[in-house]
Amino acid sequence: MITFTDVTKRYPNGYDALKQVNFHVDRGEMVFLTGHSGAGKSTLLRLIPLIERCTIGQVLVNGQYLTRLPRSRIPDLRRSIGMTFQEHRLLADYTVFDNVALPLVIAGFRLPEIRRRVRAALDKVGLLNKEKSYPITLSSGQQQRVGIARAVVHKPPVLLADEPTGNLDPAMALEIMELFREFNRVGVTVLIASHALNLIKTMGCRTLILQEGNLIGDTVPQP
Ligand code: ADP
Ligand code: ADP
Repeated sequence: MITFTDVTKRYPNGYDALKQVNFHVDRGEMVFLTGHSGAGKSTLLRLIPLIERCTIGQVLVNGQYLTRLPRSRIPDLRRSIGMTFQEHRLLADYTVFDNVALPLVIAGFRLPEIRRRVRAALDKVGLLNKEKSYPITLSSGQQQRVGIARAVVHKPPVLLADEPTGNLDPAMALEIMELFREFNRVGVTVLIASHALNLIKTMGCRTLILQEGNLIGDTVPQP
């Protein structure tokens, strides 16, 4: 589903945030990406929906080589990849419903279909009763769930999460990770950047380890 081949990402200031990174994630896998702050985790995730482009190498997503992807195909690529952020990036003056609906509105869906899909997404994250609320009235965990609902509203085959539990207490963090696992159980490929090592250990998933832009580990937990 996701293959990186000798991927280097050099930022315009000359800094190599990723150095010849190679890995493959199969369809239906759930994988963690860890490493110190500044190791390159966000950069790696951002290459997948083409928020950033790699400088050298190849990124293959869902059978498409991103270096060869015409600009006109980028919206389709992004609809096939849900992404969540630590700061969840919700719009404060939009209700929960409207935040989750936004990707569908942009894609030109009609209101009855938008209603159906938004409610399905909110139901999956356990927030159906909050659709009229504003983000500020919700807990951090609930806000993160709204971000997840927005990420899955297109029913993407790939879900990426950048530090999804950074602001959460351990119990809430585990709930969010279990929510990702539920999406994975129904076939979604999940890649989660996190530095919460204990939590990653608890989840028992394959883990990629970055250090200063080098992929230094790819470990599968022993049963
Ligand atoms: P992580 O997510 O592991 O904390 P990042 O991918 O955010 O790491 O950053 C990796 C390195 O690349 C850091 O040193 C960061 O400062 C640098 N970096 C990230 N984005 C940019 C950018 N747009 N321009 C220059 N350097 C960047
Ligand atoms: P996060 O903590 O969510 O990974 P960062 O604080 O690393 O985010 O980066 C936030 C934004 O700033 C990103 O768009 C990133 O590309 C940019 N950025 C990060 N480090 C640098 C840098 N050294 N120079 C320029 N831009 C940077």
